[in-house]
Amino acid sequence: MGVTICVGGQWGDEGKGKVVDLLCESAQMVIRSQGGNNAGHTVVAGGRTFKFNLVPSGILHPDTVCVIGNGVVLDPKVVLAEVEQLEAAGADLRNLVISERAHMIMPYHPVLDRLEESARGDDRLGTTFRGVGPAYSDKVRRIGFRVGDLQKLRFLEKKLDFVLPLKNEVLVKLYGAPPFTASAILEEYTDYANRLERFIRDPFPVVQGALARGERVILEGAQGTMLDLDLGTYPYVTSSYPSSGGALAGAGIGPREVTSTVGVFKAYTTRVGYGPFPTELEGELAEYLRERGVEYGTTTGRPRRVGWFDVPVARYAVGVNGIDSLAITKLDVLDELERVRICLGYRSKGREEDHPMANISHLKHLECEYLDLPGWRASTREARSWGELPPQARAYLERISELVGTPVGLVSVGPERDQTVWVGR
Ligand code: GDP
Repeated sequence: MGVTICVGGQWGDEGKGKVVDLLCESAQMVIRSQGGNNAGHTVVAGGRTFKFNLVPSGILHPDTVCVIGNGVVLDPKVVLAEVEQLEAAGADLRNLVISERAHMIMPYHPVLDRLEESARGDDRLGTTFRGVGPAYSDKVRRIGFRVGDLQKLRFLEKKLDFVLPLKNEVLVKLYGAPPFTASAILEEYTDYANRLERFIRDPFPVVQGALARGERVILEGAQGTMLDLDLGTYPYVTSSYPSSGGALAGAGIGPREVTSTVGVFKAYTTRVGYGPFPTELEGELAEYLRERGVEYGTTTGRPRRVGWFDVPVARYAVGVNGIDSLAITKLDVLDELERVRICLGYRSKGREEDHPMANISHLKHLECEYLDLPGWRASTREARSWGELPPQARAYLERISELVGTPVGLVSVGPERDQTVWVGR
């Protein structure tokens, strides 16, 4: 059966939650491979809405093992709140595994996140202030705390003796903020250790066992390709690797196991936070799409910026991730438009560009070349097969598929599980 990677092809929020949830119907394991509780997924099942930050979307399927992988940074308090919310809703969490290698957000990380962001002034990144970026920085500096440290509290205490003075020095001397005390942190994390103990595991035997048994494993990414630390619009990116390479590293799986890579794209584009966004729309149409698509962050409620479908971005995402099938979501949001546009390419400083460039100042100041197509002006929400989609909607999807050079495998026409058109099944 092998591994399916589910990767966001744009700037995140593409609707990966719903797509992963659908893929999980035939999967035995789902691994959340990177990101922290700065990402949010919404899954609607049986008329109920579930919001997740850390727990993989597959948790709604009682037989699916859900792993929070080593590439994730997690805030123990957030994971515990999610666990409680899910258990109250009747979900069975026996199958939840948290990797002992995942890193933890410590109490000083959100504080530093806010202070560092405000120190950036006009160059601020638009972080979610959850401490995710500072926790990843500490992981790279090798002064991070891992979930497994909760099982060795003496070791955690010793490490805190070394790390906390470094943090307090910055907090107090650089920002004039109050310091943290080791004893308070230790008390808080001892409580987390007790409450999380039942989930903490070494995922190596769990994941390799599933692969050896030939089970179907889904890798659930957070954010999207254009927010990848290396491949995205740096520095307006997240601090982890949402691309498929990052998914493998964050799950501890080798490329030989991968049987398919699904790229999730909205039928248009959105992004939160600052940074380049070539096809961005403003004014009435932007407002209309934002309202109709409910384009407000799951985690923060921040309004998302909206724009047309961007083929250069999609082609780039296909290339860097090895995407072999497109999942196009939220087609229904475009239902009432008279005209839909697809960005074919960019013109920057007199040059034609067919993919997003690394230089973000060039990417900020370019013109998009568009293909205009007639809208379908009919509801797609009830369509359950390709033939039930309006002809203009099919033409729109076919053009996207041709231009991106990749087949469409799934079209989502509403948030519910059954509001899905499987193509070629
Ligand atoms: P993710 O982080 O990529 O999973 O995306 P989010 O969960 O932040 O955003 C997707 C939002 O769109 C959620 O509220 C979904 O319920 C909703 N959604 C997903 N697919 C569709 C769709 O096809 N149509 C509509 N109208 N909403 C959808």
